[in-house]
Parts: sequence; structure tokens; C-alpha cells
Amino acid sequence: MATEVPAHAGLRELAVAAARCTACELYERATQTVFGAGPDKARVMLVGEQPGDVEDRRGEPFVGPAGRMLDRALDEAGLARNEVYLTNAVKHFRWKSTASSKRRLHQRPGATHIAACHPWLDAEITAVRPRIVVAMGAVAAQSLFGPSFRLTQHRGELLDWPDPHTTVEAAVATIHPSAILRAGEKRKEMQAGFVADLRLASRV
Ligand code: SF4
Repeated sequence: MATEVPAHAGLRELAVAAARCTACELYERATQTVFGAGPDKARVMLVGEQPGDVEDRRGEPFVGPAGRMLDRALDEAGLARNEVYLTNAVKHFRWKSTASSKRRLHQRPGATHIAACHPWLDAEITAVRPRIVVAMGAVAAQSLFGPSFRLTQHRGELLDWPDPHTTVEAAVATIHPSAILRAGEKRKEMQAGFVADLRLASRV
């Protein structure tokens, strides 16, 4: 199996090609490829982990509970959702079932899935030409900065972009909005931190 990413393609062509991707086994159990969405030439690109259950069914990124949390945080940070490009490090939903429930439970993508899907993310960065990229969560950060990157050490910093052959001038690594949903009594504090990280990206 191979990822066949068309060279020099625009977003529309990339999305059509990604819909046929079989480069890792995740396509077998997911409903569809969930490609990125947003303006062709967004200045800010936000990268999450993978589509969730709602996104998998609807075919759009960040339209479930984590997406609503992201919308609130973008608003507080002064960023309009329709001005940013939203995508994920992995484009198919990885999930597991349980004996006691029909619910599809999120399963974190593995290193092989992140590596197999990375060419699509690279192609989106080339097509969109953002100036700043925000990695939301450890999977996105490791896809963009390599497997040794530690989000706990660099969260909220303005980071150099590893590839000088792109338009990207800087990056910010932060938490994934779904982490706020699971944060219990620390929810407010985590949300404030997430908004502060998005503000940093917005200022750049
Ligand atoms: S997760 Fe990515 S690499 Fe794997 S099949 Fe889907 S689009 Fe292809």
C-alpha cells in the first residue's frame, strides 16, 4: 500500500485523491476520509489528531463536541473559524468497539498511521501556504515535529518551523480541544491556556 499524493495539487484535487487512500488500514473501518476544510489561502492552519465519531459520519473536521469547544476558543482568541484552515494529522477515524456498548470509542492513531498520513498533511501545507501552524495535541505535534517532540515541554511556545522550504514562519503547539472536555474541574484553567496559545498564533 502507498500514499499516492498528486504533486502540485490544489486542495480540491488533494481531497478527491485522499478519498481513495488505502495507505494504512484505517480506511477499512472508517466511514470516509475526512480531509481538511477552510480557505485555500488561510494564514493560520490548525492541525488536530484525527476525525472523531461525528466527523467520520459527516465527512467534515471539527464538527463534533471538540469542534464546538474549538469554535468557542477561536472566538475568544479573536480568530474566525472561516478564516483558518482546519485539518487533522490522520484523516480516518480509528476506533474500537466494546462488548457492552454499540458506541465507537476513539483510539489514538499509532506511529504507523501518523507516518502513512503525513504526506497528506504536507500536501495541505504546500497548497494552503499558511504563515503559522498550530499543532493541537501530541499526535499533531509529533506528526509535524517528529516522534521525539514532547508537547509537555514546548506547549505554548513560539516554535521554529522545521522545513525552510515552506511559507510557514512559526508554529505553536498546544493541547487538543477534546482534552478540555475531559478535564473535569480543571476545565476552565485548561480552556484559558488553550485560548492563550491560540492568541499567540493570532498575534504572529
Ligand atoms: S489514515 Fe491517512 S494514510 Fe491511512 S488510509 Fe486514511 S488517508 Fe490514507
